[in-house]
Amino acid sequence: EPTITVIGAGLAGSEAALAAAGLGVRVRLYEMRPVKMTPAHRSGNFAELVCSNSLGGEGEMQSKGLLQAELRSVGGAIVGAADAAKLPAGNALAVERDEFSARVTRAVREHPLIEVLGEEVTAVPDGIAVIASGPLTSDALAADVARLTGSERLSFYDAAAPVLAFDSINMDVAWRAGRYDQSADYINCPFTKEEYLAFFAALEQARAHTPHDWEKLEFFEGCMPIEEIARRGVDTPRFGPMSPKGLDDPRTGRWPYAVAQLRQEDREGRMWSLVGFQTGLKWGDQKAVVNLIPGLEQAEIVRYGVMHRNTYLNAPQVLDATLGLRADPTKFVAGVLAGTEGYLESAATGWLAGTNAARLALGLPPLTPPAESMLGGLVRYLASANPKGFQPMNVNWALVPELPAEVNPRTGKPRKLGKREKRPVMFRRGLAAFMTWAQQEAGLKVTPPPVPHDGETEAALA
Ligand code: FAD
Repeated sequence: EPTITVIGAGLAGSEAALAAAGLGVRVRLYEMRPVKMTPAHRSGNFAELVCSNSLGGEGEMQSKGLLQAELRSVGGAIVGAADAAKLPAGNALAVERDEFSARVTRAVREHPLIEVLGEEVTAVPDGIAVIASGPLTSDALAADVARLTGSERLSFYDAAAPVLAFDSINMDVAWRAGRYDQSADYINCPFTKEEYLAFFAALEQARAHTPHDWEKLEFFEGCMPIEEIARRGVDTPRFGPMSPKGLDDPRTGRWPYAVAQLRQEDREGRMWSLVGFQTGLKWGDQKAVVNLIPGLEQAEIVRYGVMHRNTYLNAPQVLDATLGLRADPTKFVAGVLAGTEGYLESAATGWLAGTNAARLALGLPPLTPPAESMLGGLVRYLASANPKGFQPMNVNWALVPELPAEVNPRTGKPRKLGKREKRPVMFRRGLAAFMTWAQQEAGLKVTPPPVPHDGETEAALA
C-alpha cells in the first residue's frame, strides 16, 4: 500500500499530510509537540500560528491573494480552515488563531488515512518523506538534514509582537480606522512630536540594556524588531510601522506625527497585537515602552513579544523545483525549512511537497506548477536563486514573469502598464495557468475560487 512519512504538523506538514491522504496515500505524520515544545509554540495543536494571525493580503492586487486563490482552487486545507475562521482585517486574511488550528487539527486527526505519531524524529526516515519541521526544527533532526544535504544549516532570529487586552486600551485617545479608505479594523494610537520623542528615547534606552548577542545575527527585513528599526534613526519607525499616513485623527482632523496600530487577535476582539512591534526587549522594559504609547498608558500585555531562532536550508543549493532534495529525490522539503517565509507560503509548499510525495508513492513523476502561477514562481525561485547569502522568501509579484508590453494601437509603440492595471491581469493569468495545470497535468479536481476585488482594483476599474 503506498505510504509516505511527514515530519511536523505545522503549517506545511498538516497541508502536506492532507494533500497526500487526499490522493489515497497512507500518511504517517510525526509531531513532537506537546511532548517536546519549541521556543515559540504554546500548544499541542497542529498549524499553530506563532506570531501574527494574518495569512496575508487578499484580492487580485496581492501576490498572497493569488497564492490563496490557487490553493483554494485545489481545496487546500490551510486556506480552507482560514476562510472558516476568518476575522475582519481590511483586505487581509486574518483568522481567530485557536479556531483555525483546531479546525486543521480535527481534519488531520479525523482523516482515516493519516496516522499521527506524537514523537520527535531525530533522523531523516527511510522511504518517501516530507520534511516540514519548520524554523524551530529540533537540533538532532536539523543535524541529520544538514548531513543528508551536505550543507551547513543557517540560523537567524525572528521576533513576535506584544498582545494587549482591549479593555485596558484608552479609546478616548485611540480610535478605530483603516488607512485611507480601508475598513476600520485597526485601533490607532496617535503621537504628538513630543510624545514620539519620549517614546523613542525610552525604546533606545531599553534596547541598550537588552542582551545583545542576537544583534550579530541576520534579520529577515519583514520581521525586524522595533528596537532594531529604531537603531537606524529617530525617524525610521515613523516612516515604517509607525507611519501616520492615511489616518485622520478624529480629534484634530489631521494625520498625527506618528501612529502605533493594533490589529485584532481573537474573534471577540479582546486581544490586540501591536502591528510591526516585534521585539526582543526584556519584559519589564517592554511594558514601560508600550505604556508610553498614547492610549496605552494603562495597557495590559497579555502576551509579551519574543525573539526566536530560524532554521532553513540553502534551497538553491539543495532543492529541485518539485521540492525534492537533489541528494535524495524520495525526500521532499516544505515550509520555512525549504527556504520560504510566511504561513501561507509554508502551507503552499506543504501542499506541493505532499502532492509530489504521494505521486511518487503512486508511481507518478513529481511536478512543478507553471511559472505564471505564484506557487510555480516561488518554487522555481527556491530552486534557482543565488545561493550566496540566500534568505527565506515571501511571495511577491517579482516571482512571476512580467506581462508582455502592450502595443498602443494608435502610435504602434509599446505601452508600459501601471501596477494597478497589471496586477489583476497577472492574477487572472496565474490562476488560470495553475488551474489548467492542476486539472490536466496533476489530474486533480479543480474548483474556480471566488476572487475578491479589493478597493484598489475597484478604483482602477472605475
Ligand atoms: P511550523 O509551523 O513551525 O511547523 C513545524 C512543526 O514541526 C512544528 O509543529 C514542530 O513542533 C514540529 N517539529 C519540529 N522538529 C520536529 C521533529 N524533530 N520531530 C517531530 N516534529 C518536529 N510567518 C508569518 O506569516 N507571519 C508571522 O507573523 C510569523 N511570525 C513568526 C514568528 C516566529 C517567532 C517564527 C519562528 C516564525 C514566524 N513566521 C511567521 C514564519 C513562518 O511562517 C512560521 O514559522 C510557520 O509556522 C512556518 O511553517 P512550517 O510548517 O515551516 O513550520
